[in-house]
Amino acid sequence: MADAAWDVIIVGQGLAGTTLAWFLRAAGKQVLVVDADEPVTSSKIAAGLITPITGQRLVKSRNYDELMAAAGRFFTWTERQTGRTFFHDRIALRLFRSQAERQNWSERRGRPDYQAHLLTPQPAPLLDAELGDAGAGGFAMHAAQLDVPAYLEASRAVLAFEPMNLDWQRDVAFGSGVRVGRHQSRLVISCEGYAAARNPYFSSVPFNAAKGDILSVRFHRSVPAQSLHRGIWLAPTADPDIFSVGSTYDWKRLDRQPDPAARREIERRLKEFFHVPYTVLEHRAAVRPILSESKVLAGLHPGEKRLGFFNGLGSKGALQAPYYARCFTDFLVRQTPLPEAVDVARHIDRGCAPPILPTR
Ligand SMILES: Cc1cc2nc3c(=O)[nH]c(=O)nc-3n(C[C@H](O)[C@H](O)[C@H](O)COP(=O)(O)OP(=O)(O)OC[C@H]3O[C@@H](n4cnc5c(N)ncnc54)[C@H](O)[C@@H]3O)c2cc1C
Repeated sequence: MADAAWDVIIVGQGLAGTTLAWFLRAAGKQVLVVDADEPVTSSKIAAGLITPITGQRLVKSRNYDELMAAAGRFFTWTERQTGRTFFHDRIALRLFRSQAERQNWSERRGRPDYQAHLLTPQPAPLLDAELGDAGAGGFAMHAAQLDVPAYLEASRAVLAFEPMNLDWQRDVAFGSGVRVGRHQSRLVISCEGYAAARNPYFSSVPFNAAKGDILSVRFHRSVPAQSLHRGIWLAPTADPDIFSVGSTYDWKRLDRQPDPAARREIERRLKEFFHVPYTVLEHRAAVRPILSESKVLAGLHPGEKRLGFFNGLGSKGALQAPYYARCFTDFLVRQTPLPEAVDVARHIDRGCAPPILPTR
C-alpha cells in the first residue's frame, strides 16, 4: 500500500463523481477522477433545476430543506474554489394544467412548510399575457438552478482528472490496493450513472432508469430568466435567448438516441400555453440513473472493501448530490455509519456477486 499514488480513484465525472471528489479532497484525500469524456451524458444535458414543490400532486420534495441547505453551501463553496459562477437563485413559476392540480394546491398552500417557499407577495400577473397563458392560475416559488456543464468544467480544471473509458474486467485489479489502468490506489469508486447497470460488481443493484429528451430553443422575444413549469419546464441557460425545454420519461428505450416522438410531445406541451415563437437548436437525450424506490445508494461492496459505489441521483442530481456525497465521505473518512437505506451493501448478495478479480 505504501506505493499507492492515490487514496481514491473515482470512475465517472458526472454530478455524482465530481461532487464526491470535492468532498474527499476537502477531507485531505488524494483523489483522481477518470471519465470516458462522452459528449452527451445525463449530467451534461441536465437543466440543473432545484424546485421545492414538484409533480402533478404538488408535493414538497422529500427532505428538501436539508438537501437544499447542503446544496446551497456546497455549490457556493465550489464557486469560491473555482472562481466561477454556476449556482443561481431562481424564481420558479408553477402553472396549473387542470382543476385537480388547483385543488391539490388549495389543500397545501396554507401549510407553513409550503408557505416558506412562496414569493410574498405573489407576482401579478403571474405571467405576462404576451408570453403565455396562465389563465388556470398557479404560484411563484423560490428555487435555484445549477449550470451543470459549467460546474463540471470548472471542477475538472481543479480536480486531478484523466480521460479513460474504464473496462472493469480489463483495467481494474484488486490486490493489497487496487490497480486502475496505470494507477495504484487504496479505493476505487463507481460513479458511473446508468452505465453502472453494466458494472459486473454491481449488477444486482436495481435500476428503474428513465430516458429523458430535452430541447434547446432560441425564443424570438425576450423571456425572463425564470423557470416555468406546466407539464413540461422551461429553464434559462447562460445565454439569455436560449432556454432548455423538457422533459420526457421513457422507461423502455434506455439509450441516448433523440426520439422524434418525445420532441413532438415536448413541443405540443410547450405550445399548449406558451406563445413566443422559437427555433429548436438542439435535441438531446440521456438516461437518468434512477434506482428503485428512487433512493440514492452509496457504500462499499461487501465482498471487496476497496470498491465503492455512489449512484441513484435520479431526476434530482443537483439537489441530492452534495448531501449524499457528504454522508459517503463521512463514512469513508470518519467511519460515520451510512443510513441503512443508503447503504448499497444491502442490495449485493455476497454469494451471488461475481468474483473479485485477483491481483495481476
Ligand atoms: C433530460 C434530463 C434533464 C434533467 N434535468 C435535471 C434537472 O433539471 N435538475 C436535476 O437536478 N437533475 C436533472 N436531471 C438528472 C441529472 O442529470 C442526474 O441526476 C445526474 O446527472 C446523474 O449524475 P451521475 O453522475 O450519477 O451520472 P452521469 O451524469 O451519467 O455521469 C456518469 C459519468 O460517468 C462516466 N462513465 C460511466 N461509466 C464509465 C466508465 N466505465 N469509465 C469512465 N467513465 C464512465 C460517464 O461518461 C459520465 O460522464 C436531468 C436528467 C435528464 C436526462
